Amino acid sequence: MKILVTGGTGYIGSHTVVDLIDHGFDVITIDNFSNCHGAQVLDRIKKITNISVKNYQIDLTDLDKVRVVFAENPDIVGIIHFAAHIYVNDSVQFPNKYYRNNLNSLVNVLDCMNEYGVNNLIFSSSCSVYGNCDALPVLESTPLGKAESPYARTKQMGEEIIEDYTISQKSANAILLRYFNPAGAHESGIIGEAPLVKNTHLVPVIAETAIGERDHMMVHGTDYPTRDGSCVRDYIHVMDIANAHTKAIQYLLSDRKQGGAEVFNIGIGEGVTVLEAIKAFEKHTNINLNYKLGPQREGDAAAIYADNTKAKNALGWVPKRGIDKIMATTWAWEQVLHETDSLKPLS
Ligand code: UDP
Repeated sequence: MKILVTGGTGYIGSHTVVDLIDHGFDVITIDNFSNCHGAQVLDRIKKITNISVKNYQIDLTDLDKVRVVFAENPDIVGIIHFAAHIYVNDSVQFPNKYYRNNLNSLVNVLDCMNEYGVNNLIFSSSCSVYGNCDALPVLESTPLGKAESPYARTKQMGEEIIEDYTISQKSANAILLRYFNPAGAHESGIIGEAPLVKNTHLVPVIAETAIGERDHMMVHGTDYPTRDGSCVRDYIHVMDIANAHTKAIQYLLSDRKQGGAEVFNIGIGEGVTVLEAIKAFEKHTNINLNYKLGPQREGDAAAIYADNTKAKNALGWVPKRGIDKIMATTWAWEQVLHETDSLKPLS
């Protein structure tokens, strides 16, 4: 069964491609390599799976080029749509870049689903669609708050566009996966997060500090109303996220779901503070991290974590890796990044 994965050489995309292949799916990808060392990632996927994945290096906003992919692959049974611009700060600075890319790409994918009769779609959404919410943990039924950034708004709008599409196309089935904080790397140490731009996410920043890429790191805020004053997040291992896509596509293909768009939270279901994450890393590596306590970062919510009961019950998805595994695999991957010049960020 052939699955088209857009953004398939990116961070979550590449791990999902591996998990799909591990579960017997045939995979093709569309990725323009705009934020990854795509050719290397494809080689590395082959090292893990023994399979050469065919990638179309095209821009998803170019509808004619996307049509060619569907025309050449009439056996696509499902699409996992990751490809998008993903940086909150960048989106605040360049909102149109986000609206143009993220929304046009999605509409083109939906047009091709319609034209080529593909009925199953999984969409990468984000817990950022909830905005700042007071009631924790967050349930799928929690009303969406105001988007805190253009990036988050493209995810809210993307969900609505897909809902409208499934209302107009009764045969269409969609799942919207709201990821919490993805982290960690494949257990082999062969793939992991390697963006073309400098990373600002907590877990890679911790590892970069430990290896000496950064002199020190900052804890952004220690006066939040949380157990130790630092922000609480739900860190979910990237291979558990990857497996949620496999489970979701299996769910769609087994006809357990009949039409419409269904939402699932994909988080571990526990909150971890920034200071606890640092401690978990120090415990695993025996390295004393050089961190400083700093002021709050603009736009950060104090705490967010998922209620993941719905995904567990409906999809049979069980996240298996906690914060310790996240730190262990991140640290192993950091050594690879450190030794491999061709995987380093370009800026
Ligand atoms: N954070 C931090 N220092 C860093 C990077 C992040 O203290 O160098 C904090 C950040 O303020 C937030 C949490 O770690 O409370 C997770 O941030 P990240 O950027 O990884 O993900 P977000 O939740 O913002 O999507």
